[in-house]
Amino acid sequence: MVENWRNDYLRALPAVDAVVAAFQSAYSAYDYAHTLLVQVAQEVVAQLRRQILAAAGAEQLADLDFSAAAAAVAVKARLTLLQQPSLRRVINATGTVLHTNLGRAPLAAAARAAVAEAASYCNLEVDLATGKRGSRHAHVEALLQRLTGAEAACVVNNNAAAVLVALNTLAAGKEVIVSRGELVEIGGSFRIPEVMAAGGARLVEVGTTNKTHLRDYQRAIGEETALLLKVHTSNYQVVGFTATVETAALVKLARETGLPVMEDLGSGLLLDLSPYGLAREPLVTDCVAAGADVVTLSGDKLLGGPQAGIILGKRQYVERIKQNQLLRALRPDKLTLAALEATLQIYLTGSPLKEIPVLAKLTTPAAVLQQRADRLAAAINKGADGLVMAEVREDVSYVGGGAMPTTYLPTCVVAVRSREIPLHRWVEQLRLGTPALVGRVQDDWLLLDLRTIAESEEEEVVRCLTS
Ligand SMILES: *Cc1c(COP(=O)(O)O)cnc(C)c1O
Repeated sequence: MVENWRNDYLRALPAVDAVVAAFQSAYSAYDYAHTLLVQVAQEVVAQLRRQILAAAGAEQLADLDFSAAAAAVAVKARLTLLQQPSLRRVINATGTVLHTNLGRAPLAAAARAAVAEAASYCNLEVDLATGKRGSRHAHVEALLQRLTGAEAACVVNNNAAAVLVALNTLAAGKEVIVSRGELVEIGGSFRIPEVMAAGGARLVEVGTTNKTHLRDYQRAIGEETALLLKVHTSNYQVVGFTATVETAALVKLARETGLPVMEDLGSGLLLDLSPYGLAREPLVTDCVAAGADVVTLSGDKLLGGPQAGIILGKRQYVERIKQNQLLRALRPDKLTLAALEATLQIYLTGSPLKEIPVLAKLTTPAAVLQQRADRLAAAINKGADGLVMAEVREDVSYVGGGAMPTTYLPTCVVAVRSREIPLHRWVEQLRLGTPALVGRVQDDWLLLDLRTIAESEEEEVVRCLTS
């Protein structure tokens, strides 16, 4: 039994046709497709109907305008929203440099330019010297060989894909030996046992969580063994009474038995960052020099490039991987290759610590961040006319992206709060702004970490907070 007042409101709902007509007369300058207008008008009327059905009493609906003209205004608002891209720029003020949810590595200026250039036609699979068919992998292979010392290389969409196709090529239907201390799970559901199964290989676990010895691998090798796998524990650390087998020792054992060794490095560091206070991570060059037959790494972690999976190694294995049918499904597009080539070029001939944003952010000294924080806080206090409080504090930032989990980088943050708007509403408002601004919430403050805010974004931050 529907109450009388509710029935009256339901009867007062505007007809969809009337809303469309009202829209067309109010916004005659906008030429939207009729089917889209009808669809959006239906949505607006449906929302009004839901409000009527959900209301506890007539007084809750008293302020609503049920005219076709008012509905037309709502249609216009929805159409405007439809025109906003879903994927938008975010100012990362979280202090987490490789923030996976915010797109991991911001690209270098040269990489952005290369993407824009390749977005047109490009020589993706044409050898311009001969005019004949070329390989998309050729564009970065020589750079990767030079930078890492590897004999051969190819690129896929991400490191998960790299591990998958490598395991499938080298060990489908066979056994792969891995230490129990290295059965890694990376966020976003990459887990070594599952990837192994997806690749069609059988996992043979050896050793224990904290200690694995060379003899553990030795004993597990049998008729069915196809590969010895080492996985970098990028996002956790086992400390205390521990033992792992170094790549070189594993390679020596593999040579004696005629097996290949694969190492999944994950973060893929090309430069030693330990002089800048970061954890000592295995370098790609060390891993290749130690003799690993196949090495896999991410393009968008510590390397600072686009999302990609890089496969390096001995020519015979990389060539077999290139022949795998799966590679066709996992191949990178021209935009990825353009960004990766430009990023690698910086390592070869440029100044990576200056030009690659991830490396620049990770190595910025706290004293520089302090100066920038002082300047930003002063600009906010000045621009906000007393409506926003801003103060500088010392804090720590993180590497993120499942890399260097125990590295805490000293930083400076600007802590802000609004005198007018409750914190949770303000944080939402800033998240929905253009550009979006995302920081860390701590107690009753929003913390903006200068380590991840680009210097060129500081003015925008002030505008976001004070407008
Ligand atoms: C991050 C990581 C992966 C997954 O790499 P994506 O590029 O995110 O697919 C795989 N293995 C290790 C060890 C990692 O650190």
